[in-house]
Amino acid sequence: MHIVVCIKQVPDTTNVRINPKTNTLEREGVESIINPFDTYAIEEGVRIRERLGEGKVTVLSMGPPQAEAALREAISLGADEAVLLCSRAFAGGDTWSTSLVLALAIKKLGPDLVLAGKQAIDGDTAQVGPGISYHLDWPQACYVSKIREIGKGQAVVESLLENGKEVLAVELPAVLTVVKEINEPRLPSLKGKMRAKKAVITTWNETDIGADPELVGLKGSPTTVARVFSPSRRGAGEMIKAESASEVARLVVAKIKELKIV
Ligand SMILES: Cc1cc2nc3c(=O)[nH]c(=O)nc-3n(C[C@H](O)[C@H](O)[C@H](O)COP(=O)(O)OP(=O)(O)OC[C@H]3O[C@@H](n4cnc5c(N)ncnc54)[C@H](O)[C@@H]3O)c2cc1C
Repeated sequence: MHIVVCIKQVPDTTNVRINPKTNTLEREGVESIINPFDTYAIEEGVRIRERLGEGKVTVLSMGPPQAEAALREAISLGADEAVLLCSRAFAGGDTWSTSLVLALAIKKLGPDLVLAGKQAIDGDTAQVGPGISYHLDWPQACYVSKIREIGKGQAVVESLLENGKEVLAVELPAVLTVVKEINEPRLPSLKGKMRAKKAVITTWNETDIGADPELVGLKGSPTTVARVFSPSRRGAGEMIKAESASEVARLVVAKIKELKIV
């Protein structure tokens, strides 16, 4: 079984800096990590290979040249091969064009299963996994917390819901996005670190995956981030107390009028 795991390199920080001109993330000089949810996807891919006793795990990332570091780390965590999708044509892409680029590369790799994280901690949209399955017209299951069975062209998975879980049978090839409840990622082994150091990372651009430059990156993005800003902190608020509920209601209405909220 050939498993492709999509991983995103993200800033290792909560106070992201936004470039005021381009409204995109400042990545220069910011420590980067593998998106936390993707470490569970890598682990799950390796566990399936171990469970089946055969197969290959390829990690795939679209990003700037420095994203190679995230791919090497993924190899130290047990992945076999790595592909970096890197080109100016891919820059500034929204989730539609990001998932298209990944889908075209996945089509070229031809796997039986695609694993992705539930969401990325910077863009936070959780749209890329479903977007990949849309572009490939493959089945998908999201918020997967357990892969019960896998093989013979099908996977049986548990998908987390707000108030429980559902069990789905998914025909392969398919796209699964995973949550952190699915496993406990292992630490990199010494052997893994050495393999990562020597590993040859394949790099593809738009020509290698047959992408039309007009349909990817900022050019191919139906959405653009108009403005990114931190919402202003709200004040503590005021507690309105009175003898009776009708008196509280009267005071609230007076306050609303005073503040000209309506
Ligand atoms: C603050 C901010 C807000 C944004 N808001 C929007 C928005 O509202 N709409 C929009 O279309 N775009 C938005 N973007 C752009 C968006 O971040 C990028 O399109 C990004 O490449 C994918 O979206 P995401 O980060 O939300 O990923 P998600 O959809 O949350 O990622 C889910 C999973 O997909 C995989 N994945 C995601 N990106 C990659 C990658 N580059 N390489 C490999 N695997 C990947 C990973 O497995 C990840 O766990 C925003 C970016 C920022 C920084």
